[in-house]
Amino acid sequence: MFIIKENTRKSLTVAPKIEEWQEQMRNMVDTIDKLEKYINVTDEEREAIKTTSARWGTTPYFASLMGRDNADDPIRKQVVPSKKEQENFYGIENYLIHKENRSGEENRPDSIARQYRDRIAFTVVNICGNYCRHCFRKELVVDESLELRLDVDEGLDWIREHTELRDILVTGGDPLLLPDEQIEYIIRKLREIPHIEMIRFGSRLPIVLPHRITKGLQKVLGGYHRVPIWLNTQCNHPNEITERTAEAVWDLLTCGVNVGNQAVLMKGINDDVETFRELHQKLLAIRIRPYYVFYLEPAPGIDHFRTPVEKGAELIRDALRGHTSGLAQPMYVVATNIGKIPLMPDYYIQEKNEQEYVLKNYKGETTTLPNIPE
Ligand SMILES: *Cc1c(COP(=O)(O)O)cnc(C)c1O
Ligand code: SF4
Repeated sequence: MFIIKENTRKSLTVAPKIEEWQEQMRNMVDTIDKLEKYINVTDEEREAIKTTSARWGTTPYFASLMGRDNADDPIRKQVVPSKKEQENFYGIENYLIHKENRSGEENRPDSIARQYRDRIAFTVVNICGNYCRHCFRKELVVDESLELRLDVDEGLDWIREHTELRDILVTGGDPLLLPDEQIEYIIRKLREIPHIEMIRFGSRLPIVLPHRITKGLQKVLGGYHRVPIWLNTQCNHPNEITERTAEAVWDLLTCGVNVGNQAVLMKGINDDVETFRELHQKLLAIRIRPYYVFYLEPAPGIDHFRTPVEKGAELIRDALRGHTSGLAQPMYVVATNIGKIPLMPDYYIQEKNEQEYVLKNYKGETTTLPNIPE
């Protein structure tokens, strides 16, 4: 007993320490054999996996949240490839080039996507903790048909030269899959640029790999600074929220990182009133502020998740506004090549005349507000 203990201690000091999150990434569930540990794989799923050329896979942690026998499980549908990905009706080919204005006039590094004057998306990596079947960046991340040069220093130089920028959204792939030292480097370099006022991270890891929010990462992201860090994650269904998620969010908040959510509206996953409400209530219960709900973008091969455009506005009316806390209300938008466009419900103004507005609430009751001339 004593000897074994000694040995263990010795080997621990010699070998570089593998953290739990790295272990999860090493053991990605990305073969049929590994998948079978978590679910009973259907013939259709097996066929889809065998015939797809796209990347797929998830962490053992996220895989363990799938229903073993329910082929319609909301997490399973985001994880396991479907034959329907090989069909396309509404999606635009070469979607990312179009969406991110990559063929436009401004000469930018591949890592920079720009739609606004004061802020940009800075893509630093193309790997993820879960290869979401609905990903709008699938050409880069899932299909790997679009090759971009993701050179961090080249991007940083470009950002330094553009003094009109104030807000940098660091994205991917999943930027929190970079080693701590590289994340620290990006943050430090951005904070050295006088015109940068805030840094944002887009990361699904608090949901698919909460183990990533280590003490080491908290040190990198945390602490008081003139340039704050905000993080938006992506949680689409209440089943994606566990005690472990709640703790990871607490760790982010207590070290000084603000946490929001960007959900994607998807048919059969979160497009019913009960699920949509529960998702937003549960997010708030673990201290995540709902920020956006996205209409599914017209990327190719994801039509099986598509809802009518009005769906999100209806859900906000029927599940959220008036039915639960105002803090639980995200903005419903579609992200387009000309920026994000709100698709919020317009039926709150029932009527407008020279004297007044007639306003309608979530129950259909009406009230009036004087119409003030300019
Ligand atoms: C989404 C996005 C942003 C950030 O938009 P916000 O509405 O400020 O959250 C910035 N640049 C690009 C290219 C984007 O796609
Ligand atoms: S984590 Fe984000 S970038 Fe990665 S596959 Fe999912 S949606 Fe796409």
